[in-house]
Amino acid sequence: MDYIGDIHRRAEQAKRPVISIEFFPPKTEKGDASLLNKTIPNLMGLKPDYCSVTYGAGGSTQGKTLKIVREIQETHGLTAMSHLTCVDSTVDDLRAYLDQACDAGIKNILALRGDPPSGTSEFTAVEGGFTYSYQLVELIRSYGSFSIGVAGFPEGHIACRGGKHIDWQHLKSKVDAGADFVLTQLFFNNDDFFEFRDYIANELHLDLPICPGILPILSTAQIRRFTELCGASIPQDMAAKLEVLKDDDEAVMEYGIDYATQQCRALLEAGVPGLHFYCLNKSYSTTRVVKNLGL
Ligand SMILES: Cc1cc2nc3c(=O)[nH]c(=O)nc-3n(C[C@H](O)[C@H](O)[C@H](O)COP(=O)(O)OP(=O)(O)OC[C@H]3O[C@@H](n4cnc5c(N)ncnc54)[C@H](O)[C@@H]3O)c2cc1C
Repeated sequence: MDYIGDIHRRAEQAKRPVISIEFFPPKTEKGDASLLNKTIPNLMGLKPDYCSVTYGAGGSTQGKTLKIVREIQETHGLTAMSHLTCVDSTVDDLRAYLDQACDAGIKNILALRGDPPSGTSEFTAVEGGFTYSYQLVELIRSYGSFSIGVAGFPEGHIACRGGKHIDWQHLKSKVDAGADFVLTQLFFNNDDFFEFRDYIANELHLDLPICPGILPILSTAQIRRFTELCGASIPQDMAAKLEVLKDDDEAVMEYGIDYATQQCRALLEAGVPGLHFYCLNKSYSTTRVVKNLGL
């Protein structure tokens, strides 16, 4: 299995984008089987560079991430990154997870703080735990055996009261602590991404791969829920289109494939180092988008 830092270095030399796909751990054994035996084999046709598996996001269990990551690597030979958050974990808990990850041959961790539990707006660290993700990056870096990714927010993090520039400045502490690359939150207006990327390069003088997170929309209700949760905005033209398509999921999915294709095409033309697809454990839309792009 590869270090994602190395994957990026090789792709840059070959002048090609890194393609990565994000999964979440299914809640049932049937879901596990469908992900491992159907969705991932379908997506392997795209020859992704690596995939990642979320940790405790959207109600998924934390314990399953390691198991799924290991199974993907062992069964499909695809480099898989584990997400890891500081939620409900002491430093000892985090060390125990990282020790297990090392033993399981996992070489890549996406270091996150995690969201406050639903119903609360403030994140509170547990006693003996971390408050910010840069502290987790420092811990992971002390192992010396992981490539480390961190989250970036083209529209600013939803909880950062000081606004997006203050949030972007906080990214510097993650990079100084040892992050190798950034994966962004979903966004639909490329100008938001370009402003973010330029600020990081020109104002913060940071030089590392920043890969846009792409969500091919699957349903109107779902995208409204997601954007409300993460604070990403829906552009006016998209909102108007969704208003017309409403609950016609098939039409929304086709629109989502079209929109994501155009979005990715413009991002690639602007030289992004990779594309990170939020596939929501489904292969159809991501496959269509990557094929449309001729990658
Ligand atoms: C690609 C991607 C994958 C994700 N995967 C998951 C997942 O698997 N599981 C999950 O639960 N969540 C996941 N998330 C969501 C993420 O955990 C939340 O958005 C979380 O609220 C912020 O995480 P962070 O790592 O950016 O936190 P941090 O970098 O710690 O930032 C959190 C907040 O604190 C502020 N801040 C940071 N440093 C400082 C400082 N030194 N002083 C003051 N303020 C500071 C920031 O501006 C921000 O508002 C993911 C997000 C992305 C973009």
